Amino acid sequence: MTPLPSAPGTPVVDGVGRIPGFVNCYTYADGDEIVLIDTGFSRNAAPVVHAFEAANVPIARVSKIVLSHHHVDHMGGAAYLVENIPAPLACHADDAPYVEGRVKTPMPPLMRPFVRVRSAPVAITLHDGDQVGPLRVVHTPGHTPGEVVFFHPSRKILFSGDAVVERKGRLTLGAPRFASNLEQAVESLWRIRDLGAEILLPGHGIPLTEDVGPRLQDLMERAPGEFLRRATR
Ligand SMILES: [Zn+2]
Ligand SMILES: [Zn+2]
Repeated sequence: MTPLPSAPGTPVVDGVGRIPGFVNCYTYADGDEIVLIDTGFSRNAAPVVHAFEAANVPIARVSKIVLSHHHVDHMGGAAYLVENIPAPLACHADDAPYVEGRVKTPMPPLMRPFVRVRSAPVAITLHDGDQVGPLRVVHTPGHTPGEVVFFHPSRKILFSGDAVVERKGRLTLGAPRFASNLEQAVESLWRIRDLGAEILLPGHGIPLTEDVGPRLQDLMERAPGEFLRRATR
């Protein structure tokens, strides 16, 4: 299958582009429209802008910008993008106050001097079960209160944000030290496993196109020991 050229970024599967960096942003081409999933660290969304330029696709083709959660590495470019393209910004209702700057984003002290977060207006607040084009919004709280994953039910494609990331060949929780509620993050793994994804596109690390089910099962089984024990030590 030749990936559609209309999904800027590195082709992963048909209609899906990955814009790699510290964070992966993704494009999902839905007919003529493109959904952008996460915006990266950069205050001028540079990797996203460059990916569209490289693909020769006008960035105005983005019909929706959706955020997996409010952390600055995922929403840093959102303000710039909504100022420059007509696409609405969407995120889960529980993370919207952080994205909009009404509630301060918790940030590791070491990072504070380097990162000035630009808050961005959220046009659409998402809830569990909502649809973004063909993608279903699944609320998987724990990493943040409003962490969501986006799932394509018939193609079994999962954009897993920081709810599940890939690190050194293994699936794991995204930055457990910064999780708003680790126990919840571990519980959310059940929901994620039950989706039956076959393609996993994490917020950090390498996309997986094989053995997704068994690897999610493995993470789910080891997560309580690995993360909850550590948290109570
Ligand atoms: Zn995060
Ligand atoms: Zn992240």
